[in-house]
Amino acid sequence: MGRTQQYLDEAARYSADNYKPLPVVLERGEGVWVWDVDGKKYLDCLAAYSAVNQGHLHPRIIAAAKAQMKKLTLTSRAFHNDQMGPFLRDLCEATGFERALPMNTGAEAVETAIKMVRKWGYQVKGVPEGRAEIIVCENNFHGRTTTIVGFSSEDQYKEGFGPFTPGFNLVPYGDIEALRQAITPNTVGFLVEPLQGEGGVIVPPEGYLRAAAEACREAGVAFIADEIQTGLGRTGRMFCCDWEDVRPDVLIVGKALGGGVYPVSAAIADRSFMDVFHPGDHGSTFGGNPLGAAVGRAALQVIVEEDLSARSDELGSWFMDELRAIESPHVLEVRGKGLMIGVEIKKESGTARPYCEALQERGILAKETHHQVIRFAPPLTIDRSVLKSALVDVAEVLRG
Ligand SMILES: *Cc1c(COP(=O)(O)O)cnc(C)c1O
Repeated sequence: MGRTQQYLDEAARYSADNYKPLPVVLERGEGVWVWDVDGKKYLDCLAAYSAVNQGHLHPRIIAAAKAQMKKLTLTSRAFHNDQMGPFLRDLCEATGFERALPMNTGAEAVETAIKMVRKWGYQVKGVPEGRAEIIVCENNFHGRTTTIVGFSSEDQYKEGFGPFTPGFNLVPYGDIEALRQAITPNTVGFLVEPLQGEGGVIVPPEGYLRAAAEACREAGVAFIADEIQTGLGRTGRMFCCDWEDVRPDVLIVGKALGGGVYPVSAAIADRSFMDVFHPGDHGSTFGGNPLGAAVGRAALQVIVEEDLSARSDELGSWFMDELRAIESPHVLEVRGKGLMIGVEIKKESGTARPYCEALQERGILAKETHHQVIRFAPPLTIDRSVLKSALVDVAEVLRG
């Protein structure tokens, strides 16, 4: 087993037991490939939950990070820096919004959106103080803060962590009537993943996003799209909402915005929402820092200039067709959009975990999500030929 076991032992000895990783210890990455401490090479089919859409160590992103590291890395927002403005301008231009509020992790950007629409609800919509409601979907994943897990429908995310923040109402995902009926005069926002990632790669019925955005517009409710995982090319469009020509009121991005290098996230909106924030209302020591801004700007440029959305679209539909063509007694369904693909394993065939372990043996790193689903979400820079040779192994593992 070489050096791997000693690292596994050390992690087991000193790390909190809050994850169950595959037993692989990585030390190097380049593009779609990663290598473990014993020199074995793997295809990365998780891409850090889509935080590495641009591939590991993308030369442009690394160059931007290195250059900025030699100049200035952190100022706090007590002072201006020369990187944040250009970054936010590029981000607003790429998304078509007026303003962006930079944070670090996805969960912080979700919290930012929650605070924004609540304050908008009180100050602009006229909801009575303390009564704002936000509608969220069953099976959601928006992060791990106490407020966010408080509106999860997953027992394990919540158990032992209460009491929770009130003001959130759950509706079934993909059910437009349930959404319409849940809206009250005090509803300020509808927070939704345009395609549920952690929930098991769940694609809502066609037309759902458009109908939901329409219902929100009619009722004066902010449509908040959490595109932390689905955004920046992952689903074959720049944003998953683009599939239905939906422009959210608040757009949340993270993960790949940091190009796999640095945590960079943002809540993005027009002035009508963003202008509820005034100095002292909200902030983050690291949010908008010059290193993160330089990295974020390069990460965004790579997505746009290498046209990674189109690549994801083309390779994703082809790969999904190939996966569906595999004759396996164990596969219940193959679903997804672009290179965000889930293969659901039948309950009677066990969980997805042993399939992921078998893939690891063959040099393919994929991770199970929600027990039954194997997720395939490689960096969007992947070549068709690489996917093609991976398919041979995937087919053998799925046929079991
Ligand atoms: C990963 C994720 C988050 C949380 O992002 P962190 O950076 O882990 O805080 C929120 N929403 C969605 C849809 C995600 O996939």
